[in-house]
Amino acid sequence: MARIHSSATKPEVLVRHWLWNHGYRYRLNVKGVPGKPDIVMRRYHTAIFVNGCFWHGHENCFNYRKPKSNIEFWEKKISRNQERDQENYRTLQENGWQVIVVWECQLAPKHIEQTMSEVEVLLNDKFLSLYQKHNKVVYHQSEDGQKLPMAAETNPKYRDNKKYQNERN
Ligand SMILES: [Zn+2]
Repeated sequence: MARIHSSATKPEVLVRHWLWNHGYRYRLNVKGVPGKPDIVMRRYHTAIFVNGCFWHGHENCFNYRKPKSNIEFWEKKISRNQERDQENYRTLQENGWQVIVVWECQLAPKHIEQTMSEVEVLLNDKFLSLYQKHNKVVYHQSEDGQKLPMAAETNPKYRDNKKYQNERN
């Protein structure tokens, strides 16, 4: 097996590769999205943050070890990061974005599949809710009396009557 280049094991890259390999497309470094999310998926109105457990202060994390020196300095710095994170998430949510936070420790080889499956569920739920908002599902009666779901666009286009008649003539 080829040795994996160290940059390919960065948490953010692991998430990107998983999404890409499962057919999800995304954008990086998108301007105008608050909080500079690591991964932006406009189709899903979703912003993904891939957080390092230390820098972002992952609570109760098995991966997180408290620093042994300069404790006060680190604690201040990390709690500032946490506050900023929360503010970014709030702003995004207020603007209709779904925010997903993936922690570094959740991407360990034995956890990554579970973690990303959960991310996938969230993406699809959001996609479905967006779809339902834009497309009313209406029912029509089929000849044998069964109700069949039929997707209707919010602004259906009707045939131009004149054109229709010309076609028929
Ligand atoms: Zn963690």
